[in-house]
Amino acid sequence: MLVTEVNTPLLDEPGVELRSDITVELVDHSASDAGVVRAARVSTIGESAQLEDKGEGYSAGLINYLMKSRHGSPFEHNYLTFLITAPIFTVRHLMRHRTWSFNEESARYREIRPVFYVPDSDRLLRQEGKPGDYTYVAGAADDHEHVLTSAHSVYSKAYEEYSSMLEAGIAREIARMVLPVATYSSVYATCNSRALMHFLSLRTNRQDASYISHPQREIELVAEQMEAAWKELMPVTQAAFEAYGRVSP
Ligand SMILES: Cc1cc2nc3c(=O)[nH]c(=O)nc-3n(C[C@H](O)[C@H](O)[C@H](O)COP(=O)(O)OP(=O)(O)OC[C@H]3O[C@@H](n4cnc5c(N)ncnc54)[C@H](O)[C@@H]3O)c2cc1C
Repeated sequence: MLVTEVNTPLLDEPGVELRSDITVELVDHSASDAGVVRAARVSTIGESAQLEDKGEGYSAGLINYLMKSRHGSPFEHNYLTFLITAPIFTVRHLMRHRTWSFNEESARYREIRPVFYVPDSDRLLRQEGKPGDYTYVAGAADDHEHVLTSAHSVYSKAYEEYSSMLEAGIAREIARMVLPVATYSSVYATCNSRALMHFLSLRTNRQDASYISHPQREIELVAEQMEAAWKELMPVTQAAFEAYGRVSP
C-alpha cells in the first residue's frame, strides 16, 4: 500500500492514513478480439461463426469496419471485471456509468478504516478556464502542504467523531455520515468492451480524440489503468478505438 510521500510531519502521526494511489486490478474477463469477430460473423454465416478462423488480417479489417461504421453490438459479447480502490468521490464518478454492474463495500456492514485520499505532489492543484474546459497549473510552492494540512485536520476530526459514535453504540449506517468523500472505498465493476470504450471516451483527456473530454484526474487514473489492462486482451479493438477518434461504436 502506497502512502503519499511528502515532506510533512503530519504523516508520522498515528490515527489516519493518507494515501495518494488509486488502484485498478483486472480480476476476471472473457474479452478477446476473436469474440468480436465471431459475434459479427454470425450475421452472415450463422452458427459456423463459432468455428471459423480467417486469420489476423481479416479480423483486423472486420473490427476496423465495425468501429468505423459504429456497429457496436459485436463489442458487447464479453465482460471485464475490475477491482478498484479509490476515494468515494472517484467511485461516484465511476458509478455514473449505468451500463456497468457494481458492488461496493458497505459502510453499514463494516467499520470504515481511517484511510483517506490526498493528492500527491505531482497533482496540479489550481484550475484555470471555465466549467467544462479547465486547464490545471502548478500553483504556489506551499499549495500542496496547505492541502495536506487542511485535509489531515478534517479527516482526523471526522474519524475521531465517527469512532466516538461507534463506541457509544450508534449504528455504523448513521456514524458514517460524518466521513468525507475522500474516504477510500473498494468496488467491483463489470462492463463489456463497448461500455468500456464509452467510459474511456469520457474519462480520459486526449487531445487527439474526436471529442475532447475533461475528466477529473482521479477518475482518469482509473480509466488509464483499465485501458492498459483492456489493451492486453483486445489489442486490435483498442487500436481501432484509437484510429477512429476514441469514439464508442
Ligand atoms: C467531464 C465530465 C463532467 C461531468 N460533469 C457532471 C456534472 O457536473 N454533474 C453531473 O450530474 N454529471 C456530470 N457528469 C456525468 C455525465 O453527465 C454522465 O452521467 C456520465 O458521464 C455518464 O455518461 P453517460 O450517461 O453517457 O454513460 P452511461 O450511463 O454509461 O450510459 C451509456 C449510454 O447509454 C445510453 N443511456 C443510458 N441511460 C440512458 C437513459 N436513461 N436514457 C437514454 N439513454 C441512456 C446513453 O446513450 C449513454 O451515453 C460529467 C461527466 C464528465 C465526463
